[in-house]
Amino acid sequence: MLFQSKQKLNTSCRYVNGGLIFTADNKITICDKSSDILSNELIIYDKFNGINFDAAELKAKLEELKYNYSNRFDKKECLNCYNFENIKSKEQIPLNFIELNHWKSCFLNCKYCNYAKTDDLSTVSHYDVTPIIQDMLDKNLINKQTKIIIGCGDALLHPEFDKLMYFFINNDMKDIDIYTPLQRYCHSIAEAIDKKIARLFVSFDSACPYIYQSVKGYNKFDIAVSNLKRYLEFNDKSSKRIILTYKLVKGVNDNKKEILDWFMMSRGLGIKKLFVDIEQNWYDELINSSDENLNQLIIFIKELSLLNNYDIEFSLKLNKLFKQIEKDTNVCI
Ligand code: SF4
Ligand code: SF4
Repeated sequence: MLFQSKQKLNTSCRYVNGGLIFTADNKITICDKSSDILSNELIIYDKFNGINFDAAELKAKLEELKYNYSNRFDKKECLNCYNFENIKSKEQIPLNFIELNHWKSCFLNCKYCNYAKTDDLSTVSHYDVTPIIQDMLDKNLINKQTKIIIGCGDALLHPEFDKLMYFFINNDMKDIDIYTPLQRYCHSIAEAIDKKIARLFVSFDSACPYIYQSVKGYNKFDIAVSNLKRYLEFNDKSSKRIILTYKLVKGVNDNKKEILDWFMMSRGLGIKKLFVDIEQNWYDELINSSDENLNQLIIFIKELSLLNNYDIEFSLKLNKLFKQIEKDTNVCI
């Protein structure tokens, strides 16, 4: 028998330990690092179309995959993954998180986007995830504390989005993170912010319409700002529930002026927290090399945060790079 339920799992990744990802290419997986060999072994369902879902069956497959992963002697495929951490696993049912990335529509075309997106909502075929979440709740695969991560594409564009959000609100889910470029206003989000159960990560990557268009393919900066201001009306003034994000894109927005403008714009709008990340392709390049301009930018952002006593969070990827800079240069911030 491959799986013995009583055996303690010992894995080394917050994904393998933590939750499930519903992907845009119709998979349910515990690792979506598509370039990684191992990720193919961690797919629970391929060609998933939303029907005939059985949470009990999923739970059994999940346990078996985690058990197989924990017994691999050679996890070297994971070593360059920023999610790899030397942590011991705990029993993770109910799951820590569910990441919903199965949305297939977006009005933008970001340089760093790997998803196959369309802006034609009428041609999109996707499944309604609400009954699946209901089944997982009923079978105790998730509970009210499970973090729900609503990823890009722009989930807000989908007709069933409001229904799903009200499902979360009515079921008293406590922790919802929504990643969006904010091309639509949804009252369900305003209500979730008002109830303090959701955080909104708004992707700007810039502070001016020109750079916005260079990163995101279209000039829809003003729409995003105007929707953002409507959500801010529901946000407690000191709250960090609305977070602006900036993904560093090589040769496009990787300069101090744009970052400083973005910081000033955010502060002017009353935003209390920022999040900075780096595009995956650039990060992959840096595994075998280093980039002095980027190092200076990372230090600049750290100083911006410290000198202004402002909460600027780094992604796991940037934190990993920052640790490397500290090690190589003895910079201590
Ligand atoms: S460490 Fe990275 S590549 Fe390995 S299983 Fe976790 S997310 Fe996937
Ligand atoms: S907003 Fe999200 S889904 Fe849309 S193009 Fe950008 S990264 Fe892709």
